[in-house]
Formats: sequence, C-alpha cells, structure tokens
Amino acid sequence: MKNSAEIHEIFSRFQAANPKPTTELKHHTPFELLVAVILSAQATDKGVNKATAKLFPVANTPQAILDLGEEGLKGYIKTIGLFNSKAKNILQTCHLLLEWHDGRVPNDRAALEALPGVGRKTANVMLNTAFGQPVIAVDTHIFRVANRIGLAPGKTPRQVEDILTRVIPDEFKHDAHHWLILHGRYVCTARNPRCQDCLINDLCDYYQKIVKAESPGLKKTAS
Ligand code: SF4
Repeated sequence: MKNSAEIHEIFSRFQAANPKPTTELKHHTPFELLVAVILSAQATDKGVNKATAKLFPVANTPQAILDLGEEGLKGYIKTIGLFNSKAKNILQTCHLLLEWHDGRVPNDRAALEALPGVGRKTANVMLNTAFGQPVIAVDTHIFRVANRIGLAPGKTPRQVEDILTRVIPDEFKHDAHHWLILHGRYVCTARNPRCQDCLINDLCDYYQKIVKAESPGLKKTAS
C-alpha cells in the first residue's frame, strides 16, 4: 500500500504527462455518452466509435433512437459484441428517460443505476465524465493497475473503488479515473506491461517486488 507522498507523486506524474485526460468514447452530449458506454461493455472504444459515428448523426436523442426501432438500431450496432441485448437495453433506457426524466440523462447515481444496462461502473463514468463529479469507475484496467501498483489493493472492483476514493488527493480525483484507464490500456497492459517505459515504475510494487526480483538487471529507465 502506497503512502500519501507516493500517491501524490504518482498522480503528479500522470498529470504532468497528460494534463487533460478524457474518455476515448466519442460523444457530444450526456445522452450520446450514455449510449456509447452501454455499447462499450466487453467491446473496444474504437469499435463503439465506428458504430456511433454513423448512428449519432441519424439518432442522438431518446426519441430518435426509439423511432429507429429495434431492427433499425441493430443495423447500426451489429458489429459490436452482445448487440442484441445492448439494443434492448438502449431502447428501454430511452423509454425510461422520456418517461421519468423528460428525455434527459439524470445527474444522480440511483436514477442512473435504475436504467437497464447501467450498473455502478457505467453510472460512475457518467457522473465523472458527463457531470464532472470526482468519482472513479473501476473497470478491468483500473482494477489491475491499482492492484499492481499497490495503490488500492482490493479483491473486488468495489473494494478498489472505495480505497481509491479514500486515498487519492482531491486535486487529482476527477481525472484519476482516466489516467488509470489510459495507463492500463497503453502501458500497464494485462500481458506484458511496459514496465521499463512506465513513468511510475520506481513507485510501483509490481515492478519493485516482482519484475526486479525476476530480472535483477532491470533498472528504472523513465524519469
Ligand atoms: S511498473 Fe509495470 S506493473 Fe507497475 S504500473 Fe508501470 S507498467 Fe504497470
């Protein structure tokens, strides 16, 4: 487990390297982001962006998506995994947004989690990225990275989320979500993490304890 000075240093370096991190899911409105996040479960952001680049110019409101109908919507998202169930969830979500929220995406965890296809992780992404709240959505990347670094050792995503929420300084909390995801996606990958290129390798438990033990010749190369 990292101490507070180490945690501050880790996020200072992430901030210096990428001062304005954000999601790679292309969107212009909270509703577009919500659809994109529902589509992104077990799919790549690139694949989702390819589909929404055609969908959103045609339909980017709950009513417009309902007007497409199930088959019409599937025509735009059929390249994405689990598109059948995702289409159903999106249509039901559109229906409920119109019925309960005048067609707007609610800025409220309980209201978000009441929507089909929206669990705690998706709600956190919406609260963070669409509404600017300092919450952290723990996906597979953040779960792995937080455990490897020793930042938030936890057995479940919720445990990791709670520890991260507690230990990350307020000044970094809003952007921490994106820094950790991007770090996991491009540097601290599941297989073959790029430890020698990693800007926090001198602060990482995994690198210090395991990689160094296996390869004593490896030294910190990033500054
Ligand atoms: S040193 Fe390696 S394991 Fe640690 S955060 Fe960097 S890439 Fe991940």
